[in-house]
Amino acid sequence: MSNNTKQPSLAWPGLIRRYADYLPVNEFTPIVTLLEGNTPLLKADSLAREMGGDIELYLKYEGLNPTASFKDRGMTMAVSKAKERGADVVVCASTGNTSASAAAYAARAGLKCVVLLPNGKIALGKLAQALMYGATTISIEGNFDDALRIVRELGETGQVEVVNSVNPVRIEGQKTASFEVVDQLGQAPDFHFLPVGNAGNITAYWKGYKEYFDLGISSSKPRMFGFQAANSAPIVDGSPIENPQTVATAIRIGNPASWGGATNAVEESNGHIGKVTDNEILIAYKQLAKTEGIFAEPACAAPLAGLKNCLLNDKIPEGSKIVVTLTGHGLKDPDNAINEAGYTPAVVAPELDAVKDIIGL
Ligand SMILES: *Cc1c(COP(=O)(O)O)cnc(C)c1O
Repeated sequence: MSNNTKQPSLAWPGLIRRYADYLPVNEFTPIVTLLEGNTPLLKADSLAREMGGDIELYLKYEGLNPTASFKDRGMTMAVSKAKERGADVVVCASTGNTSASAAAYAARAGLKCVVLLPNGKIALGKLAQALMYGATTISIEGNFDDALRIVRELGETGQVEVVNSVNPVRIEGQKTASFEVVDQLGQAPDFHFLPVGNAGNITAYWKGYKEYFDLGISSSKPRMFGFQAANSAPIVDGSPIENPQTVATAIRIGNPASWGGATNAVEESNGHIGKVTDNEILIAYKQLAKTEGIFAEPACAAPLAGLKNCLLNDKIPEGSKIVVTLTGHGLKDPDNAINEAGYTPAVVAPELDAVKDIIGL
């Protein structure tokens, strides 16, 4: 078993240096890093109890990456490789987090960045990031799938480097999350739950788990359980969706680029791909914050809602070790948080009695 869990966090060198043996890099690759990765794996006993499950539940809190989503894992690779090839400009289509990450790593690398976003459907924090990191930010009057189509066409001109997860080195970087889970847990979990949008991440996690297993670092592989939002569930429904809708904007995707990777992960691992309603997502979103003190963006609640349903339907054997990836930080999406919190602060006179009245003292 790996002894790397003992590595003090202050010495963390970023995920490319930590996992270089398993990544397509060499000594000449200019490593562009913000010291991403090494995110906490938090045991969530209270949440497991509230969900009514006799399970060992762990949360891989990817919102603690440098730009506050797991996208940094793929982006450190994509931008390093773009720089190695001598690219000047990186481009991506994004529901928000990819653009935030691309913009940050491009800034770090001294490259130009262009991001294409679906107009009006991007969480406020993500937009703020792209603008602050200095990306040329373009709103497309269409959805993510339209933006990705244009980015692919831009890529064909040969003048720009596409850093969407259609770029295979993104998947390579993202697979390191599975390595970390095994390193932190000392073994692979029985189940891995995560949200599915463009399906790059479920593809990457499965690749990582398989590689550690094939190398003999882990002795088992988890069953992969992916969850889409009910009105953005092309894989579950079996065909692309023209106009996907969901409050979880990070997974509002009608035609996933890594569709085949997702179905492969589910088939090979004896897993499951399911869907949950926006209402179920919002309930789990609030429950996570109130029960564990972990604020994650709405998309992260899709696999939690899915897990709840699986427990209700007796799909999970007692005592199972389950890891759920929390893909992005709750501060990304302040609008949904404030709407869903269900109340606004009382405004009172600056006097002790006024405050005591509100508290009920
Ligand atoms: C990108 C993203 C997803 C979806 O991941 P895919 O690889 O596109 O399936 C889920 N949650 C968050 C927060 C994301 O940023």
